[in-house]
Amino acid sequence: MNLTEESARQSDEQPDEPLYVFIEKARCPRKTCKNGRLVIYRSVANGDGSRTRLTRCSECGGRVFVVVEVPESGGGNQPGC
Ligand SMILES: [Zn+2]
Repeated sequence: MNLTEESARQSDEQPDEPLYVFIEKARCPRKTCKNGRLVIYRSVANGDGSRTRLTRCSECGGRVFVVVEVPESGGGNQPGC
């Protein structure tokens, strides 16, 4: 049976097996909103390669902090950008 063979292989997962990580577009986390348009009004480097984007939801107007990981080399010194 093909099906049982497949499930047996999944439980015996190899460490170097490629896995999927889905990076989704940031959305407003408010249950009644879920709007996908967040307007960035400030972006702060956290010093560890990540940035915190201070955004405001264009739909409900609520503030949403979005933390993103960006490559160290891709930044440069742009204060307040
Ligand atoms: Zn919202």
